[in-house]
Amino acid sequence: MDYLPLFLDLRGRRVVVVGGGLVAERKIDLLKAAGASLCVVSPALTARLAARRDAGELEHRAHAFAADDLDGARLVIAATDDREVNRAVAAAAEERAIFANVVDDLELSTGILPAIVDRSPLMVAISTQGTTPALARHVRAQIEIALDESLGRLARFCAAARGRIKAGVRDLAARRRFYDWLLGGPVAELVRHGREAQAQQRLDDELAGVAARADGRSVSGSVAIVGAGPGDPGLLTLKALRALQGADVVLHDRLVSREILALARREAQLVEVGKSGAAHSVAQEHINELLVEHARRGRRVVRLKGGDPLIFGRGGEELEHLKRHGVAFEVVPGITAALACAAYAGIPLTHRDHSSAVRLVTAHCRESVEATDWRSLTDSRETLAVYMGVAMLGTLRRELVRHGRPATTPVAIVENGSRPEQRVVLGTLATIQALAARHAVVAPALLIVGPVARLASQLHWFGAPPLVAAEGDLERRVLASKAPAAPPAAHARKRTAA
Ligand code: SAH
Repeated sequence: MDYLPLFLDLRGRRVVVVGGGLVAERKIDLLKAAGASLCVVSPALTARLAARRDAGELEHRAHAFAADDLDGARLVIAATDDREVNRAVAAAAEERAIFANVVDDLELSTGILPAIVDRSPLMVAISTQGTTPALARHVRAQIEIALDESLGRLARFCAAARGRIKAGVRDLAARRRFYDWLLGGPVAELVRHGREAQAQQRLDDELAGVAARADGRSVSGSVAIVGAGPGDPGLLTLKALRALQGADVVLHDRLVSREILALARREAQLVEVGKSGAAHSVAQEHINELLVEHARRGRRVVRLKGGDPLIFGRGGEELEHLKRHGVAFEVVPGITAALACAAYAGIPLTHRDHSSAVRLVTAHCRESVEATDWRSLTDSRETLAVYMGVAMLGTLRRELVRHGRPATTPVAIVENGSRPEQRVVLGTLATIQALAARHAVVAPALLIVGPVARLASQLHWFGAPPLVAAEGDLERRVLASKAPAAPPAAHARKRTAA
């Protein structure tokens, strides 16, 4: 260890900053936040520093540095771009036995400032001991993500409740568990949203529950219904990540990728509850029961579903079941397949020239097809995003064309959207079924129907370029001859003419 990490109480204590430029400005902001009494030595100041001086927030010595500027200082920071001046500051500091930090100069420094993540009273300081500041910044960025903004408030909330928790949960192991619940469960969530009074109430209820329970169980469980997005772990939300990292049990769909499951807390029990077509409803009931059962055992349950949990995911039924059984829950939305597949295929779902609305529809079985109001799906200025539709391509084409969509309407199939193995197949209503068969498209795949689909051929950026029909095929001819199949983009044209 080359340096000792140390937190200094600088409130009201004299710190000298040599230099009055932008670098000095940043250091001064930090020192001010720590309550230091500041003296800035520099012939000139930036406008912001001059304003601070005028507001009486710092003493300004408008001359070149002299050694006696350090008299009475506890700490000095040299932030000039003149190495000679910096050297003189370091020497004068050493003579007076005070610590000096020379910005970007390890050799001249007797102290270095860490990168910090400030969630006061929680404070994380990160240092590579001067060797690789870029790495410290990188690590800081990761910690910034892991520690959400409200953590300081949560720390204060817990500090205020500490005595009561100690009195209410006597057993040490139970208390540890209680704190796990407090920091990772619904109370923390309420504090995060600034609803301290409700958090207080929830905490009191829980403490009353501990007192009332004979089995010594310290917490009641809860369920988070969480959207895992389409596959790319980068598309998880921070809230989803936090829920995973605080989970005791993760009940996940088969669709959820392994990389995402790997983000769950190491101790979490992972249970695949993937449903396979035939036994759908039975499986769903079983999942509902599992959710309640785990929660009743005091666990933090994450129900992890592909995409968004409330879009064609039966998340609504799970919520209703939890509500009926009095289990506390929260919902963390996810990026749904339509948004992700479109983005990763280079297809804007709406576009000023081609499409003014999007509909999310499903066509996974005969019943859902029969229940569909096809007439409502034929407006050529609307993009359709069809979930679970690959098996029904023939029916889709027939019904859409029969109700008035041109057979030349572009269609894209996005298979495994956002995943490394993503494929995009591009055709028209007339040809897409044959193309899907030729390229052996598999689930999960999403259909995008409408003029915007053809933009994938120009705007694709992720993975392989779209697959279109071979030379000489009907497909190729259709794509080539039908320049934008969109209705005239009146507004755009008018503007060009004017
Ligand atoms: N709740 C999910 C949808 C569940 S239904 C969501 O919001 O995305 C399952 C269907 O979603 C699949 O049949 C497919 O049509 C679509 N889907 C989900 N993930 C996909 C992916 N990575 N690529 C393409 N389609 C996907």
